[in-house]
Amino acid sequence: MTRKGMTDIQRAQFFNDKNGTCYLCKRKLRPGEYWQREHPKALCLKGKDTPDNWELVCLTCHPPKTANDLAMKAKADSQAVKHTGVARRRKRVDALARELYGQDGFSTFREAQEEAERRL
Ligand SMILES: [Zn+2]
Repeated sequence: MTRKGMTDIQRAQFFNDKNGTCYLCKRKLRPGEYWQREHPKALCLKGKDTPDNWELVCLTCHPPKTANDLAMKAKADSQAVKHTGVARRRKRVDALARELYGQDGFSTFREAQEEAERRL
């Protein structure tokens, strides 16, 4: 994903548009204090990199917000794996592959897995 950078002018304009206020803690930043542009709906959670998804955030609020976004992404990914049955099928394939690997003289476990994939 490509993030658009801002020129100094765009950055100043964005700061003014947001009244120099962190959208999470509502604190007004001091002049010259460092801040970042943030995506309330995180890019990794299918948020868009467009102005309607840009907010000003202070450096106290940004790291925990990002950590929370990543945790939500990990949870969504794990739910997708469960929901689609991918994990259940992988378990069945691996169980059969272990059986086959012991019996049929496959030279690698990967070959046994491929045979198990075909059989299931
Ligand atoms: Zn803040």
